[in-house]
Amino acid sequence: MFNMRTHRPQRLYAGVHTRTRQRLTIQSVHELSVCQALLMQVAEIAVGRGARVVERITIEVGPLCGVEPALLASAFAVARIGGCAAEAALLIESTSVTVSCMSCGAQSQTKPNRLICALCGGFRTRVVAGDELRLRRVELRMPESRLPLA
Ligand SMILES: [Zn+2]
Repeated sequence: MFNMRTHRPQRLYAGVHTRTRQRLTIQSVHELSVCQALLMQVAEIAVGRGARVVERITIEVGPLCGVEPALLASAFAVARIGGCAAEAALLIESTSVTVSCMSCGAQSQTKPNRLICALCGGFRTRVVAGDELRLRRVELRMPESRLPLA
């Protein structure tokens, strides 16, 4: 169906229950639009720097940002086709969840499903990290760096 080097969607969907597969498909629409927005941003950077080819894109994905890294990787394999990032690798760096406690003022790392203060156990916390989806680095191949054709 798609000319992809990786076969993640097939592997991801193979053997899963129909209801789960349906949920994954609906979710991956979200991941696909996230990828399209990401690739637009990357294309702007590439054009701005005079590069035609994007080699690698690094993004930070927090556990609370609402994007599933595995689905994002699958969506990226589809979304990149035909653009300047068609050959680009996607590196997903997962970040951890940090909360700021409104009771004791401390900042601590916690689990995504348990947003309490690690110091006093307070539940009145504010998420300060872990909900981000951030473009961290774009590696470009510049036309000058190409070996001259002899
Ligand atoms: Zn606290």
